[in-house]
Amino acid sequence: MLGKSPSWQDAGGACSGYLVRAEGACVLVDCGSGVFAQLRRVVDYVAVDAVVLSHMHADHFLDLIPYACALTYAPRQQPVPVAAWPGTGSPARPRLLVPPGASEQLRAVGVATGHAGLLHEAFELSEYAIAETLALGGLRVRFQPVPHYIPTNAIELTQAAGGGRFTYGADHGPTDALDEFAAHTDLLLLEGTLPRPERAGRRGHLTPGEAGEHAAACEAARLVLTHISDELDEDWALDEARRAYAGPVEVARAGAVYTV
Ligand SMILES: [Zn+2]
Ligand SMILES: [Zn+2]
Repeated sequence: MLGKSPSWQDAGGACSGYLVRAEGACVLVDCGSGVFAQLRRVVDYVAVDAVVLSHMHADHFLDLIPYACALTYAPRQQPVPVAAWPGTGSPARPRLLVPPGASEQLRAVGVATGHAGLLHEAFELSEYAIAETLALGGLRVRFQPVPHYIPTNAIELTQAAGGGRFTYGADHGPTDALDEFAAHTDLLLLEGTLPRPERAGRRGHLTPGEAGEHAAACEAARLVLTHISDELDEDWALDEARRAYAGPVEVARAGAVYTV
């Protein structure tokens, strides 16, 4: 867990970012504000094979900017003078897998920050097809559209060699689609953003209680609440989730490690 804040950071925290490591794969899921610094605490950023984005809200991708700057300007990423950095090969260029249509949006972000090609040059960028199952090293990756304010995908990562299954709901309102997608998952990471359901308009987020209802409906082995502010009472959030879900539940904490 690199970051669990909602769209503004906790004190000392980061927005959404989750590092998934398996045999032959190191994948960063979402890269919100503050995530790059947290990533650097636990892994060398050139060793990340791929970054996968759930959706194009700022709190889920904005730290791609400093990440791309590191890949572009860090001395060991420079092609010259190679002799000054013995042992360095060609610069690292992790894959960046984004939702359909997001490539152009990221070019606009580059333009707005003064370097149109920053993200496309630093990363090997491609748009994933929602219906496809991706193979990233030893991981299989699947997507499920969920209801939010913009197109958003829940993401499942499974160890191809018969290992555990991790399902991340991303941001979404209540939906049966998630229950089916995440049925019997080993680790369910759901948002618990709201102190109460939205008073008006479309549903786009969950309360901790609704996250608990989803975990119960999925029969998930374990629930972790994320996308939750340090301005919400953690004990209240846990009580709300436990009212609906009898399995183990906790609030995500930066630096926490889960084995599935
Ligand atoms: Zn969002
Ligand atoms: Zn968000």
